[in-house]
Amino acid sequence: MLTITGCRLLKVEVPNHVIQARPEMAKISYKNFSFEFPFKIYVVDRSRFDKYLAEEAVKAGAILKTGSRVKGIKRRDHGWVVSTSSGEKFESKLIVGAEGFKVLSVEWVGLKRPRDNAVCLQYEIELRSPIDQNVIECIFGSDVAPGGYAWIVPIGEEMLRVGLGIRRSRRSPKYYLEKLLKERFQGYRIIRKMAGIVSVGGPMTPSYTDGYMAVGEAAGQVNPLFGMGCLSSIACGRIAGKVAVKALKKDDVSANQLREYENEWWDLVGRNYMLAIEIRNLLESEKGQKLIKYVAAEYRSGSGIGKTILKVLSKDPSLLKYALNWSRIKKIAYY
Ligand SMILES: Cc1cc2nc3c(=O)[nH]c(=O)nc-3n(C[C@H](O)[C@H](O)[C@H](O)COP(=O)(O)OP(=O)(O)OC[C@H]3O[C@@H](n4cnc5c(N)ncnc54)[C@H](O)[C@@H]3O)c2cc1C
Repeated sequence: MLTITGCRLLKVEVPNHVIQARPEMAKISYKNFSFEFPFKIYVVDRSRFDKYLAEEAVKAGAILKTGSRVKGIKRRDHGWVVSTSSGEKFESKLIVGAEGFKVLSVEWVGLKRPRDNAVCLQYEIELRSPIDQNVIECIFGSDVAPGGYAWIVPIGEEMLRVGLGIRRSRRSPKYYLEKLLKERFQGYRIIRKMAGIVSVGGPMTPSYTDGYMAVGEAAGQVNPLFGMGCLSSIACGRIAGKVAVKALKKDDVSANQLREYENEWWDLVGRNYMLAIEIRNLLESEKGQKLIKYVAAEYRSGSGIGKTILKVLSKDPSLLKYALNWSRIKKIAYY
C-alpha cells in the first residue's frame, strides 16, 4: 500500500501497470468499534513495482547485477573492496547499504540500528463473492495483532490481501492470521503466502560513516507505527544519491561530507518517526489503553471528532503537545 498523498508529497511516481486497486476509504476497527474516513491509496503489485524501479535506475545509468549476493566489504586504502557470492570483487570509494531488513553492511561498517522488529505474514485469498473494492480495513487490538495491526486490502473483484504484523508476541503470526481469516471469511482459497520482518525500531543515527551511507530499511527509515517503508526508502535513497554525486565530484567521501545526507533525511522523515515512536509508546501504555477506550466510547455516543478531541484534552492537558504537532502526525499517516 502506498498512500497517494505520500506519493505526491515525496514526489514518487507510480505507473499504472503496477497498480492493482485504488481504494478511496479506510476503515479502522478496534474491538467492536469502527469508523471510516476518506483515505486514497494505491495497492501495488510489489514485484512489478520493484522491477519498474530497477528499470528506471538502469535507464539513468545504473548497472544492475543479479544472481549473486554481497558477502562482505573491507576497507582498502581510501575505499572499499566488495566481495560477492559469485566470487567477483568490486572496488569502490563509496558504498550505499540498502539491503533492507538484514543490515549486514550496517554491521560490517560498525554502525548500530535500533532493534525492534515486527513479524509479518500475509495471504492473498480468493473469495466466492464480490468484495468492496473501495475500502481497506486496518484492525487493531492485542487479540488480533499484538503490538501491531492487521490489514484487509482489495486486490481484485474477488481477491483480498489479508495480513498482519505483530511484535513481542508469544504466539506466531500464523495463529493470529488464521484466526482472523476464520472469523471474517468463509470458503476462501489461499492463492499466495508471504512472510517477512519489518524493522520498526525507528531511525538509525548516525546512518553514515567514512565512505558509507545506509538507506531505507537498513537505516530504520520505516514508519514505526504502520511499518510502511517503501515511500520513505525511495525518498531517502534519492537524497543519498544526490549527496553521493556531490561527494564523488569533490573527491571527498569523508563522514564530514556525508553528514548532509542525514541532515536532509532527518528533516524529511526522521523527526516524524521519532514522534511516531512516542505515540506508539503512549498507545501501548496503560494510560494509552484507557485513552483509546475513552475515545471509542465518546465517538460511539455521537460526539464528533472535534468535540472528542476537546474532551480528551480537557481530561489530560499533557496530550496538547500531540494536538500541536497535528501536521506532523498527519504525515505519519501518509508515509
Ligand atoms: C508483509 C509485509 C508487508 C509490507 N507492507 C508495506 C506496505 O503496504 N507499504 C509500505 O510502504 N511498506 C510495507 N512493508 C515494508 C516495506 O516492504 C519495506 O520497508 C521496504 O521494502 C524497505 O525498502 P528497502 O529498499 O530499504 O529494502 P528492501 O525492499 O527489503 O530491498 C532490499 C534489497 O536488498 C537485497 N539484498 C539483501 N541482502 C543483500 C546482499 N547481501 N547482497 C545483495 N542484495 C541484497 C534484497 O534481496 C532486496 O532486493 C511491508 C513489509 C512486509 C514484510
